[in-house]
Amino acid sequence: MLTKEIERLVELQKLDNEIKTLTETINNYPLKKKQMMQPVESLLKDMTSIKKEQKKLQISRKEKELEIQEKEEKIKKLLKRLDEVKTNKEYASLLSEIEDLKKKKSDVEDNLLLLMEKDEQFNEQLKNYSSKSEKLKLDVEEKIQEENKKIESMQVQLKEKAALREKMVSEISREIYSLYEKIRASKKDGIAICPLEGESCTGCSVFVPTYLVEKVKAKKTLVQCENCSRILY
Ligand SMILES: [Zn+2]
Repeated sequence: MLTKEIERLVELQKLDNEIKTLTETINNYPLKKKQMMQPVESLLKDMTSIKKEQKKLQISRKEKELEIQEKEEKIKKLLKRLDEVKTNKEYASLLSEIEDLKKKKSDVEDNLLLLMEKDEQFNEQLKNYSSKSEKLKLDVEEKIQEENKKIESMQVQLKEKAALREKMVSEISREIYSLYEKIRASKKDGIAICPLEGESCTGCSVFVPTYLVEKVKAKKTLVQCENCSRILY
């Protein structure tokens, strides 16, 4: 009886749809997991760039410190020379040189102070980022754990459905099954058998001529849509 065969095909199609959905969800999971991790990655990236900026600043800070030290030593030397000078003119010139160095040193010190403040700000920022990313990471990891469990259960379901499918296929005639498989493989949506809706094929929405509709209703032969070649019922 063809009625029985069609019923089996409809059941098989239902099962194949479920298998398709499960398979797609499982296959998409690595990408989904990556997307879930994205906010954490993004925070870590921000932190890395702050650290890089801080490193640059610290090098510049070190340079300023050395510069101050250098100026201090020069001033010290000049101060010593003050005791040895013999003329007023020389004395005045040395004093002015010392004043000049002190002014420059003070400028560098101001600069250094700004750098130290900025360094402190970087530390503060990094602290905030670090606690934020830790919290976010825990949150995301928890969600991923839940997702992992769902995927594991889907894998079990998939195995069960595959076994059930084998059993169902064994009950369908080889010829009908191979037609079903041929059509299914050629369709993006994986639909090989679909119901008529009035006089339209629900697979492609195209009008089905009356003589074919009658044949579908008679259930004596397997009828395929003239447009999409899906089996109609
Ligand atoms: Zn069609």
